[in-house]
Amino acid sequence: MSSKQKKKSVILKVPQRHKETKHEQAGHAHKGLAVCRQCHNTLFRKEWHHPGSKIFEQARIAQGGVHFIICPACLMVRNHLYEGEIIIKNIPAKYETEMVRFVIGYGARAQKRDPQDRVIDIAKTKDGYRITTTENQLAVRMAKKIKSVFGKVQISISYAKEPYQIGRVVVFFA
Ligand SMILES: [Zn+2]
Repeated sequence: MSSKQKKKSVILKVPQRHKETKHEQAGHAHKGLAVCRQCHNTLFRKEWHHPGSKIFEQARIAQGGVHFIICPACLMVRNHLYEGEIIIKNIPAKYETEMVRFVIGYGARAQKRDPQDRVIDIAKTKDGYRITTTENQLAVRMAKKIKSVFGKVQISISYAKEPYQIGRVVVFFA
């Protein structure tokens, strides 16, 4: 095991998101706006918004001020954590470029819908790729889509428990 892999398995406590409301964030009871120093995602009334969204105008009416924080997605990246993991195995060389392009595109669309849903990393492994995401259902949905796009693959989904609900999907090219 490389030191990089070891580092990724370290569990740290960071603010967790509610499962039932994936783009809501509890734990930051700020009045007004909370802006991530890093990605400028903006939390207003427990909901995350993209940088530059019209939420600043609403917030001015609310008059709660602006606070700077690090958002859960950036915190996860910083601490080498993730909530979703896809292990792609046995991928034929001819599909590799298409696969990487697909994952980047899928991640970008997910992030557009919810600014906290992100692909963290796409790493090359011996016979495939390891993809990590900030949200477990994002990994599950993406793996199912890989199956429907690329055809002959088997997927198996498992969940780890505390402290995160980590979703792990193995995608195996038959
Ligand atoms: Zn952020």
